[in-house]
Amino acid sequence: MFEFLIIEDNRALANMGKMMIEEKNACKGVIASSRKQVNELISENPGRFSIAIVDLNLPDAPNGETLPDVIAANIPVIVLTGAYGEDMRQEMASYGVVDYVVKSTGISSYQYVADLVGRIQKNRNTKVLIIDDSQSLSGLLAFQLGIQRLKVLIAHTATEGLEIITKEPDIRLVFLDYNLPDMDGFEVCQKIRAKHGKDEMGIIGISGTDGERVSSRFLKSGANDFLSKPFGYEELLCRVNQNLETLDHIEMIRDAANRDYLTKLYNRRYFFREGTALFQKAVKKGSPVSVAMMDIDFFKKVNDEQGHDGGDEALRHIAKILSDMFPDVLVSRFGGEEFCILMLLDKDQAYKRLEKFRKKIEGTPVKTDKYNFSYTVSTGFTDLPGEDIDNMLARADMGLYEAKENGRNQVVYSEHQNDTGIQASSVRQMQRSEEASTAT
Ligand code: GH3
Ligand code: MG
Ligand code: MG
Repeated sequence: MFEFLIIEDNRALANMGKMMIEEKNACKGVIASSRKQVNELISENPGRFSIAIVDLNLPDAPNGETLPDVIAANIPVIVLTGAYGEDMRQEMASYGVVDYVVKSTGISSYQYVADLVGRIQKNRNTKVLIIDDSQSLSGLLAFQLGIQRLKVLIAHTATEGLEIITKEPDIRLVFLDYNLPDMDGFEVCQKIRAKHGKDEMGIIGISGTDGERVSSRFLKSGANDFLSKPFGYEELLCRVNQNLETLDHIEMIRDAANRDYLTKLYNRRYFFREGTALFQKAVKKGSPVSVAMMDIDFFKKVNDEQGHDGGDEALRHIAKILSDMFPDVLVSRFGGEEFCILMLLDKDQAYKRLEKFRKKIEGTPVKTDKYNFSYTVSTGFTDLPGEDIDNMLARADMGLYEAKENGRNQVVYSEHQNDTGIQASSVRQMQRSEEASTAT
């Protein structure tokens, strides 16, 4: 949870703004009503505030004297002002404020501020790439994007830009110049689009020549938007925010379809879609594949003893540990308290990871203000592809059944089906001999 500073001498307005920003974002606001108070807060702990909302007129600083204090502490600033004009615009730009908002509109100005606060906070983890051969333009653009706290990467040629995208596929937005020494912008755009969809990586074309024709060609080549040189900071800010917001909305819709609401893990449908593709790829490449089915032990009892909300807390708890311990594999909530994991790992590697997880769950109670209880998990897994994913799941499920039958809180390997059928017991022996060797 991050903290923000509201610098405003009108108490009622400050309280309302604080509440609206806190409601929209997971954050906590602190109100300062004078320049003196601001400087005390900043000097106490300069890194404390992620953003400041600044009223330019305070009793002990009537002409915006607080602004340089906050900017000097490297805190991004949104200015709330009663006045609006060209002089003000120029002055704000020279200070490097993120944005300024006219106060007279009352509540709606704080709604805008609340959205912007969230945006700036998200920007801290958002990578953007500038591909432009002009040192001066890319430098200025980088500076302006830096004001918005974006993580900026720069390439001066198309080749360099494409290489960066390959290395850093989580780049969210690309600023792409039309005139590049080794390729034109349209070609670069098409090359990016061959690997990254419009709904995943935004491209904003930039050019100073023949605006209209270049812009339409950029858009036809797969760009999301276009900026004509020269452009001002405000236009840039609006376009960046709009494009990032659209990408966020698409991601939210996608997550709503693919993820489970309670645990935020992938759902069963997503598992079958992605899992099948992953499985086929692995089989083709000859990479190892293991599939595990996992189920919380006596979950009905957890619900009975802790209440349904306590059960939900356990589900979030296990989901968090699953995500932490299996960041590199496909994890999904299959239903109820059942989870499925597809790993490109062989039997031994999979067993080690699953057993480590089992122990972690056993030793990590659900601990919150309201709850303090422990639970365990049983897991069945199998390896060796060959048939299809359904077949592997059925085998993993048999391992799970065995694990439950044998007393729960254990990992059971389910042998590849052959003439003798499932031989889950072989792993229990593996387990016992391992325990025996660690005990001695
Ligand atoms: P076992 O060790 O054999 O797996 O026993 P169990 O009690 O865990 O298994 P059972 O299948 O009998 O019970 C599962 C329970 O999980 C029943 C159901 O009410 C509960 N459950 C399913 N989905 C949710 C959920 O989203 N939240 C909560 N709190 N409970 C859920
Ligand atoms: Mg269960
Ligand atoms: Mg169950």
